[in-house]
Amino acid sequence: MTQTLLDTDERPATLSGIAKAIHECRRCPIGFLDNQAVPGAGLKKAALMVVGEQPGDQEDLAGKPFVGPSGQLLDRYMVEAGIDRRQVYVTNAVKHFKFVWRGKRRLHQSPTSGEIDVCRFWLDGERAIVRPQLILALGTSAARGVLGKAATISKARGHPISLADGTEAWVTAHPSYLLRLKDEMKREQERLFRADLAAVAERLAELAG
Ligand code: SF4
Repeated sequence: MTQTLLDTDERPATLSGIAKAIHECRRCPIGFLDNQAVPGAGLKKAALMVVGEQPGDQEDLAGKPFVGPSGQLLDRYMVEAGIDRRQVYVTNAVKHFKFVWRGKRRLHQSPTSGEIDVCRFWLDGERAIVRPQLILALGTSAARGVLGKAATISKARGHPISLADGTEAWVTAHPSYLLRLKDEMKREQERLFRADLAAVAERLAELAG
């Protein structure tokens, strides 16, 4: 019988190998939906790795991460903070789009903790290859994927968190959260998000130093 990635612990040692492997991956139920795996993208040896939750509808259709409204918002904030996205590797904690059908629309569903933990196999593989100095996790799902445990954004944001391999992790909100807010709450969360990206940009400059 042909061995599949459902039953092997082999992990490719290149990003292109991981991109190919996740298309075949059925380690969790999300991979059985009508979707395609979306690999990370960007600089192969980037100082900064940005991790989101999972591909959205537009990312799934395009096969590229962060091309939808959240990605465009992230781009704007990164430009403002002086972070060049071309110098960054972007990926997601979960590689397939989880959704439910509502008529003809696919509505986003958050991955479970278990699904994030299973897909961490691939995120860890990307980390081992890219070897970033800093990882910025966007939202609670990404924070779980990066930290390996649950985190509360309000407590985890604004300071570096040392990971076992020596990488420094920073946590902030997911841009999709900002898109859902209104009025004063929106302004406050935008201010915090801006401050988080500024702190990451400053830390990157120090490390490049
Ligand atoms: S979401 Fe991750 S673990 Fe689940 S099937 Fe896709 S690649 Fe595999």
